[in-house]
Amino acid sequence: MDALITLLPGDGVGPEVTAAARQVLEQIASRYGHNFTFTEQLIGGAAIDTVGVPLPADTVASCEESDAVLLGAVGGPKWSDPTASVRPEQGLLGLRSALRVYANLRPVKVIDELVAASPLKPERLTGVDLIVVRELTGGIYFGDKTRTETTASDLCIYHTHEIERIVHVAARLADGRRGKLCSVDKANVLETSRLWREVTDRLVAGDYPQLELETLLVDAAAMHLLARPRDFDVIVTENMFGDILTDEASMLVGSLGMLPSASLGDSARGLYEPIHGSAPDIAGTGMANPCGMIASAALLLRYSLSLSAEADAVEAALQTALREGARTADIARNGEPVLKTAEMTAAIIRSLS
Ligand code: NAD
Repeated sequence: MDALITLLPGDGVGPEVTAAARQVLEQIASRYGHNFTFTEQLIGGAAIDTVGVPLPADTVASCEESDAVLLGAVGGPKWSDPTASVRPEQGLLGLRSALRVYANLRPVKVIDELVAASPLKPERLTGVDLIVVRELTGGIYFGDKTRTETTASDLCIYHTHEIERIVHVAARLADGRRGKLCSVDKANVLETSRLWREVTDRLVAGDYPQLELETLLVDAAAMHLLARPRDFDVIVTENMFGDILTDEASMLVGSLGMLPSASLGDSARGLYEPIHGSAPDIAGTGMANPCGMIASAALLLRYSLSLSAEADAVEAALQTALREGARTADIARNGEPVLKTAEMTAAIIRSLS
């Protein structure tokens, strides 16, 4: 197949892990007979430095013309003044909105060989395979804000249609997996959560009666995620709860550098990025773990290009490389040899069957 992919390397380790994912996608294209065309564009701090804005019009246009977008990370100390009117994160928020992506999928799969890399007990981790589906465009992050010298407020607002569309995404995913959907809210105190629960209950009962639906309050969910992570299949939740729970879930696999994400809307085009940031503490050292970015490229193949066999092949290669002992510094334990980004990428490519 022919596909146009926009690469947005961004800042810090972003360009390093983007180069790694590009190599893997090029290998997939050549092995499976596809024609992937890559175009690199500016975003974040790199864009501010070059053209003065975090999301240049050329970047948006390129993403809109593409079949998929792969983004490294944005931000860093150079642009971290919270009072600055132009900030790298505006590039990411603007892009999500321009691409109309509202469902953020974060798969968390524990690979047996990496159990030791997690701070949690090994017996809780074996077999963990879950996806958090986070609503990305509503809730308290986007509601009206007010501020006086002594008071501040953030409006949390959800519309029925926003809840319905994200629950549909999560329910369809659960239907293709183990058939378990867990909806997380705070319905004992928040009106938005009561609406969330009503809509979810109605929609699942009507359209997905085959699913097993569990409902958890967010505080309990935070505890259950660590106490019995294996029980979860698909978790669906609103924007802020999802933001917090997904960072917590990343600890199940031991490093932020391992986890991918996909942001999807109603069209096939999606935005794919690792969940980590620009890691300024290790940028330029060649130490970044490319696994989260390469796993994001696998999600791109699966969800935007409908190339499931190719996506499976990338995920299998990642697992094989890890099984055979390939480790970057963040996941190496007890004197295991440490690979640099390029060596880890080469080990994954060697493992492609
Ligand atoms: P971070 O994810 O960049 O780093 C947190 C820790 O994890 C660091 O010790 C880092 O070295 C390590 N780490 C992250 N990715 C790694 C990788 N691939 N391999 C090995 N180790 C890795 O989070 P932070 O330090 O809070 O933020 C740094 C900058 O990134 C900030 O400017 C922040 O705003 C930005 N940020 C961007 C995104 C994004 O682009 N989506 C997300 C989060 C943070």
